[in-house]
This record gives sequence, structure tokens and C-alpha cells, in this order.
Amino acid sequence: MSQKFYIETWGCQMNDHDGERLAGLLEKQGYEAVGSSAEADLVLLNTCSIREKAVHKVHSELGRLRKEKEQRPLMIGLTGCLAQQEEEALFKRAPQIDFVLGTMALQQLPKVIEEVQAGRKRVIDTGEYPDNHLFPPEVARRRSTAKALVTIIEGCNHACTYCIVPTTRGVERSRPWQDIVAEVKGLVARGYKEVELLGQNVNSFAGGCTFSDLLWRVSEIEGLEWIRFTTSHPMNFTEELARTLVTNPKVAPFLHLPVQSGSNAVLKRMLREYTVEQYLERLGFLGEGRSKLALSTDFIVGFPGETDADFQATMDLLEAVKYDISFSFIYSPRPGTAALRLRDDLPPKVKSERLRILQARQMELTRASNDAFIGRTLQARIESEGPIENGAWLARTADWRNVHIASGPARLLPLGERVSVTITGAGPHQLFGELA
Ligand code: SF4
Repeated sequence: MSQKFYIETWGCQMNDHDGERLAGLLEKQGYEAVGSSAEADLVLLNTCSIREKAVHKVHSELGRLRKEKEQRPLMIGLTGCLAQQEEEALFKRAPQIDFVLGTMALQQLPKVIEEVQAGRKRVIDTGEYPDNHLFPPEVARRRSTAKALVTIIEGCNHACTYCIVPTTRGVERSRPWQDIVAEVKGLVARGYKEVELLGQNVNSFAGGCTFSDLLWRVSEIEGLEWIRFTTSHPMNFTEELARTLVTNPKVAPFLHLPVQSGSNAVLKRMLREYTVEQYLERLGFLGEGRSKLALSTDFIVGFPGETDADFQATMDLLEAVKYDISFSFIYSPRPGTAALRLRDDLPPKVKSERLRILQARQMELTRASNDAFIGRTLQARIESEGPIENGAWLARTADWRNVHIASGPARLLPLGERVSVTITGAGPHQLFGELA
């Protein structure tokens, strides 16, 4: 009888795709995927360590699994950024862990499992394997049939003081553009019409051509409809890339360009390598095209030393750019980051209040941006296998807006296909519509 596995993934889409890769490796080993840890012989916790909260979730899950392991044989493995960051220390804190596998050692999973099955305790491999980014794409066991994730570059050469990624993911390594084009062709042949190109710093891609060239090459693939990409660094956002974004009909009209703060003093302490003026100049590369796409960003509030004036500068930037959507968090001090040495003496109440103010204003901006679509007919890709809450189907527009499509109980909508939707209403988080 085949062994059963369950993978729990936290964090970014790159970690999601690593989870798909690890699942594919396990299937090749004869393991069978199951829907919960309760049914599994092997549980893989694919972790994130970008913020303290993510780490807490991992440790509470490890606590729960320790009790399960007292009841029955259960192999527990840890992968992802927390595994790479904390290595052996994890065994001390959670002795129920059988193995730790690093972010740059994915293909060592079968070997590590064999060592545990052979009776070795506390097996660990967090080596930096130079070919990790050349993972065979056909092995990945993809979770979505609506959109395929394609990692094009791993690691990051920037050194933002609050960020652990350069430590946990290493320096930038790009895949050859030919491999990426071949992978996307294979995905289209399997029925995918949308891909998302991934990297911690996707727009510093250097796999034999520029990122902009890569987008044009991928867009030449027959049958592919939308190309998305994430995450970009403003200093690698070029005029060439901006032109491609607004002129290539297959590149989805959506740009996520994290700014983090509207204060030059804070950006300097974050080592973001740009000023607000330089950031706005880069956005200016979009020109008229700005009106055709949705713009998103990340904000960190409460960074050490952030004054009222600094926060006001962030609110002024939000007002000036009027992002369609943004993701905002309170600064989370991370072990192993340079920002940890900065005096973090802002009262938590002040930090939470700043986050509340920023998110409240963003909600208004997002709502206004969604309202502008009422009465229009758009293309949207069906993302749900069936009706979600309120009997509607979930779909996503080209500029990354959620749409709840009312289609009546009897009608089945084609997962992964684009449909025409007439927008009948809007909310702060989604649009509402009917099939056109
Ligand atoms: S660009 Fe900065 S925030 Fe982004 S992954 Fe690299 S170091 Fe982290």
C-alpha cells in the first residue's frame, strides 16, 4: 500500500510552487497525496519566515503534530525559508521533526527521506545546490488548473534591512530563457492559458535575455492568453519593461511594485536603494498606459524610527499614486536581519493605529477603483471548481480583480476558461457580475 503525504505551505507564490515541486518528487517516489495531515504518513511543513506571525503558525502546527505522532507512526519534515534560516536549531525546539530540507536543496528530498527510513535521526540538508533553480518542470504537481506558476529566477541580490530572503534564498540565479519558453509551451499543450512568472526579484531576470525580452518570447506561444509576473523591485523596473507591460496584449495589465514607505528617511534605513522621487519616476515610465492597468504595492508601517511626518509621507504617496490595491503590514523584527540593530521603540498602539489608517484609506481607494467597472463587460478567468459562498463562481479579471459571477445553480462554468462578464456591482474586495 502506498505511503501517503500531505504538504502544508505558507507564504509567497514561490513557496507555493516549491510545494508543487516537492509534491511531484514525492509522487515520483510512489507517495500518494492526501487532503489532511490526519491521513498522512509523511507531513511536510513548507514554511515562511518573512514575519513573526508566519513562524508562530509553523510552531503551533508542530505542537499539534507532536501529539499526533505520539498516537501513530508519522514522519515530519520541514522545508522553506524557516528551515533554511534556523537549520539544526529547529530540532532542539521541536524534537518531533525528522528532517529539515533547505530552500536550495529541493531535489535532495528523496535522499533525505531514505535516510530517515534507514533510521537516521535529525536528518538535515540545507546545502546551496547550484542547480536547484534548474528543477525539472514536468515533475511539479500543480494545484491549479486555471493558472500555472513558473519560477524563472531564485534568490535576491538586494539587501533590504528588514528582509530575510537573501539569507534564506541566496543570490540571484536565473533559468535560461529557452527552458522557460519550453516549460510554458508544455503547459499550454496541457491546457493552461495563463502563467505567472515568479521570482523574489522577477525583473532582474538575466537568463540570456532581459525580462522584457522574455515576456515577448513567452507571449509568442500560441494558445497562451495571459502572462502575469511577481515580485518586482522598483530599481529593476525599466522603461523597456514598462513599454512591454502597456503594449504587449498578452501581458496582464497589472503591476505589483512594492514601495514599502513614502518617506526617504525610512527608505534609507530600509536600504531600498531608491528615493520616493526615483520610485515615482519609474512609475512615470508607464505614461498613458498607467490608466489601462491596475497598480499594487506593499507597505511596511512602524519601521524603527518612523515619525509622524514619515507616516504622513506614506499617506501622501498613497494619495498621489492612488493604488488600486495594496498589502500593508506592521514591521516585524526578524532574526538575522540588519534592521534588528535599529532601535524599535515605537509603541505597538501607534503602529496598529497607523496600519488601521492606511488600510482604511486603501479600502476606499480600492472600492472607488472597483466601482468604476460597474456596467462594463470584461473578460475574466474562472478560478473556482464550483460555486463559492453565495452560489457565485470565482473568476479573475486581467487586471487581477476578483469577480463573483452569479450564474444560477444549474449552470457549470468552465474552470480555467475566460468568460465575458457584465459587472453589476462592486465591493472593497471584489466585483459582482453576470455572464454577458
Ligand atoms: S528586494 Fe528586498 S524585500 Fe525583496 S526579497 Fe530582496 S531583500 Fe527582500
